[in-house]
Amino acid sequence: MIVPKCTLNYELDSFPRNEFSNRLVDWYLRNRRPMNWHGANAYSVWVSETMLQQTQAATVTDFYNRFMASFPTVECLATASEDSVLAHWSGLGYYARARNLHLAAKMVVAQYGGTIPNTIDELVKLPGIGRYTAGAILSIAFHQPVPLVDANVARVFSRMFMLDEPPNSARGTNVLWAIASLLVPMYQPGLFNQGLMELGATVCTPAEPACGRCPAAGYCKAFETADPTRWPLKPARKKVVQETHCSVVVHHSRGGVYLVKRPSRGLWGGLWEFPRVVCNGEETPCDAAERAAKQILGLNVIDVRLFAVVKHSVTRYSITLHGCTARAHQDPRESEGIHLVSVEDLKDYPLAAPQVQLRDAIIHSGKRNFELALNL
Ligand code: SF4
Repeated sequence: MIVPKCTLNYELDSFPRNEFSNRLVDWYLRNRRPMNWHGANAYSVWVSETMLQQTQAATVTDFYNRFMASFPTVECLATASEDSVLAHWSGLGYYARARNLHLAAKMVVAQYGGTIPNTIDELVKLPGIGRYTAGAILSIAFHQPVPLVDANVARVFSRMFMLDEPPNSARGTNVLWAIASLLVPMYQPGLFNQGLMELGATVCTPAEPACGRCPAAGYCKAFETADPTRWPLKPARKKVVQETHCSVVVHHSRGGVYLVKRPSRGLWGGLWEFPRVVCNGEETPCDAAERAAKQILGLNVIDVRLFAVVKHSVTRYSITLHGCTARAHQDPRESEGIHLVSVEDLKDYPLAAPQVQLRDAIIHSGKRNFELALNL
């Protein structure tokens, strides 16, 4: 394994790998948080690690429990509808993860008879499984000495070896994976990998590393400095894009409001939403709501009123979403992706987080208030 020496201030050749691994695993077994997926099979490791990407463990627990109760095996997941899978993911964000998991479960059933493959080459061919998830499945469920690097591991290694590259630069990523490959032990690789992740999540935290109780302190170069939080080095900041969107909640005179299904690819792909447009320059929310109804539903609406404003950040976008109510008497254009839904049934549809806030504003306003808002 070649590690570019110019980026490290530590001699990996002389690193006491076995001693470090034993100490870390011992610490992990005594200090790990109780989580439902410990000692779990390949399917549950796959589901939990997919949920944990870009999401905190405390947030994942309830979603994981509900998901596994409804889809306890890869076969159950493969035969579920996409709407049902997305509904179980609703609120977790990054919905491509759910769509890929669903698609990959179908492939595992079709190509491997429902048995999750146990080689890295086969795993990374499945949608949504990169080398991190493959490393977690292979090391935790199949006990293979395969490395993994997530944000927590990247932070721990960046500090231990005083990495002078941002972890998500191309070079930083290569060095981190090289270190992980070099350190992952033959014996108990799954516990070692989980120990690294747990160390980053609970001890070597971003702002306040608890070096005094860290099992890696004796191996850590940053610990010898005045301020370990100088690592990992920060990447150049990406420019935040500010956008204003408007969703229109169109109430039909027959009862119910319209939801539309988003295309399966792209942001919030496959989810449902109140018809939404990105506002143009000086366009008012009510003008944008009229345009959304016309462009997306083919409807001319009346009594357009602003009822909610929601702030939401996703990837590099900072979105201000205006919610407007409106009324229509005609029917919309014919499309399988347009549903007229009673206010009571809105909870059955998978919505992205900002749309959930609009839905909840409607539901919590009470039917009477909603009707008043619509001037019915
Ligand atoms: S000693 Fe401190 S900086 Fe180093 S790995 Fe442990 S918590 Fe992180």
